[in-house]
Amino acid sequence: MLDQLSNHLQKAMKYLRGEGKITEKNMTEALRMIRLALLEADVNYKVVKEFIEKIKRQALNEKVLSSLSPTQHVIKIVKDELTFILGAETKGLNFSNVPPSVFMMVGLQGCGKTTTCGKLAKWVLSLKKSPLLVSFDLKRLAAQDQIKQISQTLSLPFYEMTKDQVSSPQKALKDLVKFAQSRGFDPLIIDTAGRLHVDEELMKELQMVKNLLNPAEVIYVGDSMTGQDAVKSAQLFNDKVGLSSIILTKLDGDARGGAALSIVSVTGKPIKFVGLGEKFDQFEIFYPDRMASRILGLGDILSLVEKAEKEADAEEAEELARKLRKQEFTLEDFKKQLVQMKKMGSLSQILDSLPTGGIYKGLSKAKIDDKKIVYYEAIISSMTPQERENPKIINGGRRRRIARGSGRPVIEVNQLLKQFFDMKKLMKKSQFQKFLSSLPPLSH
Ligand code: GDP
Repeated sequence: MLDQLSNHLQKAMKYLRGEGKITEKNMTEALRMIRLALLEADVNYKVVKEFIEKIKRQALNEKVLSSLSPTQHVIKIVKDELTFILGAETKGLNFSNVPPSVFMMVGLQGCGKTTTCGKLAKWVLSLKKSPLLVSFDLKRLAAQDQIKQISQTLSLPFYEMTKDQVSSPQKALKDLVKFAQSRGFDPLIIDTAGRLHVDEELMKELQMVKNLLNPAEVIYVGDSMTGQDAVKSAQLFNDKVGLSSIILTKLDGDARGGAALSIVSVTGKPIKFVGLGEKFDQFEIFYPDRMASRILGLGDILSLVEKAEKEADAEEAEELARKLRKQEFTLEDFKKQLVQMKKMGSLSQILDSLPTGGIYKGLSKAKIDDKKIVYYEAIISSMTPQERENPKIINGGRRRRIARGSGRPVIEVNQLLKQFFDMKKLMKKSQFQKFLSSLPPLSH
């Protein structure tokens, strides 16, 4: 499926190659191919429709950066949009406020669920937590052997479910939680029963376990090699049991990017990890942007995207440097700078490289905590264009409105404005100006 998807997309891109300008007409054929590719990859038709409309709007409306050919421009838009669908950013695991957090693993037989329990245990061990692996399969007590073996390999204790316990599951699960609490185990990773196909009995069993344990995470483990089947069963598990996250296994094989795209769009749940082999450490956090690159196909297309992005960044950085030198720096530029900083830390690198005394005294105050970058972006996005251009007009009332709009406290809006004005003040100092003019372009 991945190959097909890539082929279609590459064909669509080839169509645009050599066209000097993006027009409604030459976009139509390219978009038709992209639409086909996504539909074939079993992406929900509504998602495809939105995807295509968004790309069309952006490609036609956005000013094409002079460094980009129309093809590069469309590729960049397609990649950004794919990344957005895949989850925009990496999401971490949810833990409960009161330990133990329960991670309930669900999925079809053979999808790699039990192996993934081990991988997840190893992962949380690296977070300095004490996981406990438990198999809860009402039918197949032998399933415990595999979990026992994994626990031994990872030097974890093994909690055995006896036949008697399993026959009264409510008590068994209560006892298990009590045991984990008294020994300080957290999280509890519960391997549940698997079947070759989704059936009602299994769903009922899983619903019961979920109701009794109130898990912090219900994780669907899907075999990426099975493509559309993994997507369909994810949808069923989500409808019947309710999922919180997804782990895709076997992406080391003939990986299906389409499955990732479809699972996320069909269930609306984030993929948090991917399995890349049989060993416990062949397990990685899921990065939506990397998966988007994978879907677009390695090699030719990917290198074009990277080149396009680099050139776009360089051009933007150059423009910012010019504005800094000329004192034309506005809050809009400040926001752009924050986005750039997230990517390459350019302005903070400059600030870091300055001496701390003399005219540079107090400069560290102008530095921005990495965590705040996201909040600051939200605050600036809530301002009107006039406010961004001329922040002096932002009075108390406007500050309160901006705070409300961005969901951040007023005090943070004040901090942002103070930092911005501090930065401008510093830029006025002639030596700092001289220093800036001596700098190479910001992106290098
Ligand atoms: P379960 O029935 O869902 O519990 O599946 P298992 O954990 O027993 O795994 C089934 C098979 O898939 C085993 O041979 C695993 O070694 C293999 N497996 C699991 N995860 C991965 C993975 O990420 N990559 C590869 N190549 N194989 C995997």
